[in-house]
Amino acid sequence: MQHRIVVLGAGYTGAVTAGRLARRLHREDVTITLVNPEPDFVERIRLHQLAAGQDLRPRPLGEMFADTGVRLKLAKVTAVDVDRRTVTVTAAGGSEQEELEYDTLVYALGSGWNDGGVPGVAEHAHEVSSRPGALRLRDRLAALDAARPVVLVGGGLTSLEAATEIAEARPDLDVALAVRGALGDWLSEKGRAHLRKVVDRLGITVHEHVTVTAVEADAVTAADGRTVPAEVTVWTTGFAVHPIAQATTLELTDSGRIVVDATMRSVSHEDVYAVGDAAMAIGPGDKPLRMSCASGVPMAWQAADAIAARLTGTDVPDVSIRYYQQCISLGRKEGLIQFVTADDRAVERTLAGRGAALYKELICKAAAWGVANPTTGMPSRRRRVVRPGVRYPAPARPAA
Ligand SMILES: Cc1cc2nc3c(=O)[nH]c(=O)nc-3n(C[C@H](O)[C@H](O)[C@H](O)COP(=O)(O)OP(=O)(O)OC[C@H]3O[C@@H](n4cnc5c(N)ncnc54)[C@H](O)[C@@H]3O)c2cc1C
Repeated sequence: MQHRIVVLGAGYTGAVTAGRLARRLHREDVTITLVNPEPDFVERIRLHQLAAGQDLRPRPLGEMFADTGVRLKLAKVTAVDVDRRTVTVTAAGGSEQEELEYDTLVYALGSGWNDGGVPGVAEHAHEVSSRPGALRLRDRLAALDAARPVVLVGGGLTSLEAATEIAEARPDLDVALAVRGALGDWLSEKGRAHLRKVVDRLGITVHEHVTVTAVEADAVTAADGRTVPAEVTVWTTGFAVHPIAQATTLELTDSGRIVVDATMRSVSHEDVYAVGDAAMAIGPGDKPLRMSCASGVPMAWQAADAIAARLTGTDVPDVSIRYYQQCISLGRKEGLIQFVTADDRAVERTLAGRGAALYKELICKAAAWGVANPTTGMPSRRRRVVRPGVRYPAPARPAA
């Protein structure tokens, strides 16, 4: 019987895991099923561009995974039962439920918008963490008259990228950022100075040391009583994971991320792996890896390699996941590459300006290329699965 691997979610990390497993394992020995509700791969790291009016290249998953040995299942996951080893899905566009059985599960459902429970956010604010959300914002911005106020709440990477993209595309709008601390306060001095220069040049107003406590249809209110006019509010204060894992017996963090070991295997269920935003793995400096492609893709490599090694009786590789840089687009013509320590703290070295914008563009292209070419590249040796009672001998191991 073939070993059934089911990968949930064909975002950056699920797609990369599935492709790498297909490169590692012999097709006769395994089935690899990749479940995703959308027929296209969504380049999530470009959703602020989509919101600002740019069109993203369609990337059909069916074409990417054709002839790779990965079976694409267009369906939405509604439940996971890690004790019965089943996943319940509803076919895309339908209502009928189906149960998929697995021997190994890879959970890569990513994350979504985090409204933080702040009053008015769910009703009035926009978001860029999903394609439908980015498209709604795009339509809203297109319908907005000149000089109308747009406020982005949050001071992190997504907020900065979205604010600069919108301000560049629509210089006629009154774009503002509301940030809890100081603008770019985690960056190096040079990085902060460059960010401030670009933000000023784009005419973005920065409200610093503001904690937004309520969002209304035409304004946001801060904890200190300040009110900032906002015809459009974009809520970019972080991501939240999907609730599906919470209904399982998997060990989770308080925020619902699946706790995994260094091989991305669940600490509570040895046949479950989790990668990307949905997983909580510890990185350098004993700090949790943050929700990002920067660490999510190496998590996917690690998970695929560990699964393949355990199934084929080879040594589980120990890939240390570390950070090198934070790549921030500041519109299409500007960018900032902030180099960081292994545990993601800014060092003085930066790359700024048009070169940084090109560098970031290259990173985005490389991330999409890695997904779009799942079985290209090294290593591509497909090993036989080793199981008790199965005819394939375990590979020779060096004597201890
Ligand atoms: C605007 C923006 C800019 C960003 N820029 C950067 C950046 O520059 N660098 C960086 O490192 N990170 C960036 N990020 C973060 C990065 O996009 C995420 O960390 C990354 O996408 C996580 O990958 P993932 O595979 O875990 O999740 P995702 O890429 O979100 O993929 C999850 C997949 O699961 C699918 N899915 C969800 N629910 C279900 C369900 N019920 N059933 C079946 N499938 C489901 C989704 O359709 C999707 O295909 C950015 C994010 C945003 C929103």
